[in-house]
Amino acid sequence: MILNRRGFIKLSVAAGSFLAFAGLGFNMKPTTAKAQLLRINWGRETTSICCYCSVGCGLLVHTSKEGQGRTINVEGDPDHPISEGSLCAKGASVYQLAENENRLTKVLYRAPYTDKWVEAPWDWAITRIARKVKEARDETFVKTNDQGQVVNRTDGIAHVGSAALDNEECWYLQALMRSLGLVYIEHQARLCHSSSVPSLAESYGRGAMTNHYTDLMNSDCILMMGGNPAECHPVTFKWIMKAKENGATLISVDPRYNRSSSKADIFAPMRSGTDTPFLLGMVKYILDNDLYFKDYVVNYTNAAFLVNPDFYFDPEEGLFSGFQKKSETNFAVFGSYDRDSWSFQKDNDGIPKRDTSLQDPNCVFQLLKKHVERYTLDRVSETTGTPRDKLEEVYKAFAATGAPDKSGTNTYAMGWTQHTIAVQLIRSMAMIQLLLGNVGNAGGGVNALRGESNVQGSTDSALLYHIIPAYNPTPRASWPTLEDYNKANTPVSHDPKSANWWQNRPKYIASLLKAMYPDKEPSESYNYMPRLDAGQDCSWLVMFDHMHQGKFKGLFAWGMNPAVSGADTNKTREALSKLDWLVNVNIFHNETGSFWHGPGMDPGRIKTEVFMLPAAVFYEKEGSITNSGRWAQWRYEGPKPLGGSKRDGDMMVMLARRLKALYQEEGGEFPEPIANFNLDNIVTDGKFDVEKMARLHNGYFLRDKTIDGTTYKAGTQVPSFALLQDDGSTACGNWLYCGSFTEDGNLMARRDKTQTDMQANIALFPNWSWAWPVNRRVLYNRASVDKNGRPYAPDKAVIKWQDNQWVGDVPDGGWGPSEKHPFIMTTEGYGRLFGPGLVDGPFPEHYEPLECPFEEQPFSKQLHNPVALHFEGEKRAVCDPRYPFVGTTYRVTEHWQSGVMTRWTPWLLECMPELFAEIDPELAKLREINNGDKVIVENPRGRVKAVAIVSHRLAPYKVMGQNLHMVGLPWHYGWLQPKDSGDAANLLTPAVGDANTGIPETKAFMVNIRKA
Ligand code: SF4
Repeated sequence: MILNRRGFIKLSVAAGSFLAFAGLGFNMKPTTAKAQLLRINWGRETTSICCYCSVGCGLLVHTSKEGQGRTINVEGDPDHPISEGSLCAKGASVYQLAENENRLTKVLYRAPYTDKWVEAPWDWAITRIARKVKEARDETFVKTNDQGQVVNRTDGIAHVGSAALDNEECWYLQALMRSLGLVYIEHQARLCHSSSVPSLAESYGRGAMTNHYTDLMNSDCILMMGGNPAECHPVTFKWIMKAKENGATLISVDPRYNRSSSKADIFAPMRSGTDTPFLLGMVKYILDNDLYFKDYVVNYTNAAFLVNPDFYFDPEEGLFSGFQKKSETNFAVFGSYDRDSWSFQKDNDGIPKRDTSLQDPNCVFQLLKKHVERYTLDRVSETTGTPRDKLEEVYKAFAATGAPDKSGTNTYAMGWTQHTIAVQLIRSMAMIQLLLGNVGNAGGGVNALRGESNVQGSTDSALLYHIIPAYNPTPRASWPTLEDYNKANTPVSHDPKSANWWQNRPKYIASLLKAMYPDKEPSESYNYMPRLDAGQDCSWLVMFDHMHQGKFKGLFAWGMNPAVSGADTNKTREALSKLDWLVNVNIFHNETGSFWHGPGMDPGRIKTEVFMLPAAVFYEKEGSITNSGRWAQWRYEGPKPLGGSKRDGDMMVMLARRLKALYQEEGGEFPEPIANFNLDNIVTDGKFDVEKMARLHNGYFLRDKTIDGTTYKAGTQVPSFALLQDDGSTACGNWLYCGSFTEDGNLMARRDKTQTDMQANIALFPNWSWAWPVNRRVLYNRASVDKNGRPYAPDKAVIKWQDNQWVGDVPDGGWGPSEKHPFIMTTEGYGRLFGPGLVDGPFPEHYEPLECPFEEQPFSKQLHNPVALHFEGEKRAVCDPRYPFVGTTYRVTEHWQSGVMTRWTPWLLECMPELFAEIDPELAKLREINNGDKVIVENPRGRVKAVAIVSHRLAPYKVMGQNLHMVGLPWHYGWLQPKDSGDAANLLTPAVGDANTGIPETKAFMVNIRKA
């Protein structure tokens, strides 16, 4: 498949047709006939899903039946309901991922203090890795903490990765790591969307995208803010443009005029880091002008709840009640809150008191009104740099969707998630949607567009330190028994109309433990789970800070490249040099595995032993991935793994077997979790059996069980999570996926586009793949109907009560209309305008980024989030005249994440070959920089060399009397490949994090720029 640069650009970029081409190469007339011939006579066709962003576009992969059995073509799947055959530049280039001469096909080993790789056999490498793991585990194993509480954990080994794995592999990987006792388990989600989950979960009950991709066409107004879908999730734009064709208003709010802006009806520029005041200004506008959906607000949100009279917000200080200076944790924070006063008044039955007139001064509605009083148009404009008339234009257009039959939505990505106030920022939008009645309906919701193809699924599998699969809290030292765990984590509601779904948690935990350790009773195997100490934070920035202090012996970097993706990259790279060993699994060389010969490194002084394990490309294996819209889609194997590369699941099985054998032969620290770890039920002929794993992920009965008169035989797949048990009779890897692989077969593999008329009307495809939970496509859809089950928007109904049953989507709880409150995952059953569960306030509040150009801000005396995560000694530039410009990072379509895959893909690299720094013409003049000049962008943490792009897409901001310039950088580059083309933008970003999740603040920091 030969395509020159000009042709590729013409197809993918210059023509702006990032949606249009299906199967790069085979849209070109001269090659079409040959491609068809190849396919029919010599090729085998399999379906797959793109490995890049979370849209989840469909692929057809053609594999030669002859010769080496390699890929002969990859193209868009015309039957796929989201992509309809379209692929963006990245999806269209996946052929070059598999068929690439630079792929790793052999195990490589770097011995301590040496300056070269040597090839190594798989058996040798796995044996040595297992030995290193056992040594590190046994040496650092902690049985009890300082308080004498049992913790059974390994503090000397850390793990990062991976949203690139299939669901089945993710689950197995977390089970293996937890069985080893690891608590420092993190992955990409911490860096990209960890702030979405608590924000959306606190507001609505679940942390996921509320709607799904094809649903975007149903919207009357789409606010693209905190993301640039045309460039970062290109096929999404197909559905956004359908909405526009249907009459929707498109709004783009961004620091930079981008590709999405170019299609918008309204573009509003906004200084990076000021989204919260922008959105709180909208809340005020909605309340002041009575534009909220009253019926919805009163009946479906906690607006009427009466709050504890001890709660207050001090607008001058910028602090909520309960603020305390500096808390006792294992990381540095400015302070913390005692949240006792952030509670509701209860009646004699223990049910929150309500004032449905919304007049009580202690009701949430009145408190919210008071809270946003300060967010006037003038003050918001002064802070954000957005012209006042633009603010009003945006507010008016979006607030119009508060009409019952209208719906507005928002699409966002890392422009919102990567701030020290990220969770509260996203909550501002979540609250707007509750006020406008835009949650649960078609074309509504808050749509978090994830950046990685399976970041949703890998998060569901809890490759994160603070949760175990399906959003259950990680066990803590203060919960010594399963009973204690359940008591502490099972919410109680006294309201008979609250479904309080988490009351089922004990069933999910027991079934999870049986999936991990099938031969043990859950009460016993609970002891196998490693436990956190009180206040212990093992999130990404803390992990790398500890690594930098030399506290870890080993690290698994599985499908991840922290030497580019981690904030304060120099610190991250130095941290790697403090390790005894590093296992890096990937398909290409990358800056993490090769850190020891990177800039500023002297291999002769670096002790780290490195194992580079070559992985299969996604379409060389079988399994499911879950897109942002929660569709779990099945991918099939095309060609076999190239050369000596292996499927990740097979590597995990090899390692697990070797570790089991070692502990059996030699004993060691707390061997029980390893000895009892589930291997036999997941392996066939020594290999990872993905179908067995998918069955376990769904769950099955372990013994005959009679429930409500029906007997389920041992071995039968559990049809729905409602039937999971807490008595050890069911095993289920992830309750959210219960229903995905039933006795009816693998529902994730479905390719049936049949719909009822009602479903077709809103582009709902219930028989294509499978969505969690229980194949529900629009979350909270019971809030889209009134108390009688009649849709508020009949022309685009999601569900309706008809002939004594629900029709349309799977209802969010099968009860009849108004039998239960619609937000079934919150304890109270209502959407939360007042969110007492977050650590930095029940309402959002504006604070400046931790690096900013101001000494004060107009909303309060608190310049920064008073409970943000930061580290003692971190170099920061606040009001430092040497670094006067606001730096920000973003993506380009042709590259992805840390660039490990795309920088090795020639077609993509040719289009975007080099790091660039984008600046406005006024700044260019100020610094005497011309378009195309080489420039240095620098701050106290590091510097990068880039090509200057002088562009009107950026403009200076007038903010609080200052003329502010911005410097924009894509963040996908690294020193290794391509050579001399710029290094990671994260060399400049600070290691400071959001108060709730620790997600790094990489969207707003201070820099200088000068000619190189
Ligand atoms: S990167 Fe995203 S939008 Fe592009 S083809 Fe892949 S899944 Fe689709």
